[in-house]
Amino acid sequence: MTQLTLGERLTEVHARIAKAAQSANRQLDEIQLVIVSKNHPADLVLELLELGEANFGENKDQEASAKAEQVKLRNHSASEPTWHFVGQLQSNKVRSMLGYCKVLHSLDRPSLLSELVKQLAKTPESRLDVFIELNLTGDPGRGGILPENLLSFAQSVLEAKQLNLLGVMGVAGLTGSPTSYFETIAKASAELRTIAPEAKFISAGMSGDYEEAISHGATHLRIGTAITGNR
Ligand SMILES: *Cc1c(COP(=O)(O)O)cnc(C)c1O
Repeated sequence: MTQLTLGERLTEVHARIAKAAQSANRQLDEIQLVIVSKNHPADLVLELLELGEANFGENKDQEASAKAEQVKLRNHSASEPTWHFVGQLQSNKVRSMLGYCKVLHSLDRPSLLSELVKQLAKTPESRLDVFIELNLTGDPGRGGILPENLLSFAQSVLEAKQLNLLGVMGVAGLTGSPTSYFETIAKASAELRTIAPEAKFISAGMSGDYEEAISHGATHLRIGTAITGNR
């Protein structure tokens, strides 16, 4: 079997996104690809920047902060990367994350919200885009906000003036069909829009299920291995 190159895998994913958007009667420009570059070196990000990509996702602060620094020093492409944090973030890493990250997809608990507010207050002009991560399994060990608590938590996020609430985020479970997860996410998104009409974005869809996520309204796809390959 011949190995596809990074560029070929990227092209294929873009083609499949376009096809899924068309089937779902959606505009392609309302769907943003975030390439999850975790476990891969800065070189991969630099190569993707040369290929015209600009949005990258990471799930560990220690790895991400070093990589962001490397990319900054070595980037000769026309575009600047925008970093997205997609994993569970420890409160003691908030300050570091704010140093390079524009979008947090995984605001998953009140204590993280408090720490974000506290750290952001040190630089009054700074802003952070956030998604509220939903707990879709009911398993408290996995983190995230239970759908029944979404509106009350969202209220407190909306009160934090340095945070810009984009919408909801979900990770489909490892077992079973992702359909019911995507339905739950779409329902939570509709509910959120009743109190925050502009928080209309949905971060959902990974390598194995992004086409279905598109059919359920996902606006931010977090795709890793389908583009980066395994490692
Ligand atoms: C790793 C990761 C992804 C990407 O997963 P792939 O299956 O490699 O596409 C997306 N979202 C989160 C939260 C992740 O940790």
